[in-house]
Amino acid sequence: MDNDFFIISSQKNPRITVRVVAGHFATSSAHRSHYIDIFDLISGASAARDAARQLAVPYRASTLVDAIVYMDKTEILAAFLADELLQAGMSVMNEGREILLLTPMPSSDGHFIFHRNVQDRIKNKNVVLMVASLSTGDTVSRMQECLAYYGCKLAGISAVFSVFPEYDGREIHSLFDCADIPDYHFYKPSECKMCREGKKIDAIISSEGYTKF
Ligand SMILES: [Zn+2]
Repeated sequence: MDNDFFIISSQKNPRITVRVVAGHFATSSAHRSHYIDIFDLISGASAARDAARQLAVPYRASTLVDAIVYMDKTEILAAFLADELLQAGMSVMNEGREILLLTPMPSSDGHFIFHRNVQDRIKNKNVVLMVASLSTGDTVSRMQECLAYYGCKLAGISAVFSVFPEYDGREIHSLFDCADIPDYHFYKPSECKMCREGKKIDAIISSEGYTKF
């Protein structure tokens, strides 16, 4: 499997690439036909800067951003996105402002929470939510609930990869989508076509990477 990775480039900027491999992959909420390895993109300084420059496009001239709430180890990407939005230039909204970078904590009951000292800093603020991958929408749904609870205004959702062009009526600003990966499929675990065909799971995937069986 490790030798079967292929590279795809973002249609928005061919310099932005990720590695992809076909197989039968499981997360806690979905089974997928491909594993998308975004490690280099979210961990490499040059790659993350290129990606952030592209992710800034939908916000730069039109959206006030007070905070970026990042999930799934996307903190480097989020920091470069903030830096892009703070740059001086023509038609920029955020020059000279400050942008907070935050990530929530998971609570024992499956929700996301912010520490008390952070809560007042984000109330009534414009927040961009950054996720690595959006497929079932489960994390985004829980984060929308979390941000609403703390009185944040959701200014946008950005993702490295998104199955959906929009979610809950809101456009997802992603670098890659299903059109970039031919025959990409995902299923609820109980409805997985590959499981029904008796195909063994190749690996468990998480925001950390993948673990082969
Ligand atoms: Zn399956």
